Amino acid sequence: MANLSHLPKAVFESYEWQESGACIDRSVEEFFLPEGLRTVEKSDHEAAAIRICGTCPVVRDCLQHALRARERYGVWGGLSADERAKHLADDSEAA
Ligand code: SF4
Repeated sequence: MANLSHLPKAVFESYEWQESGACIDRSVEEFFLPEGLRTVEKSDHEAAAIRICGTCPVVRDCLQHALRARERYGVWGGLSADERAKHLADDSEAA
């Protein structure tokens, strides 16, 4: 059985910040890459999502959640999946 102890508790308070996100009325597809994008398209797609995150009042909560929950896909908290993976790898090397 998978260890899910790193995930926030499944209560509204754990996810309340999402109600204030700049992406609340955006489509999920804007933050998660469609399959088959070429590198340039991927970069443009992520950059557009990251620009939205740049206006978001809960960007810190979002990034904290994504890192803690080890969200593997999509843009969260102004970082791409690759950027978050690097951040986590750097943290584990420093520990
Ligand atoms: S930081 Fe980005 S992904 Fe997170 S809630 Fe805000 S707009 Fe949405």
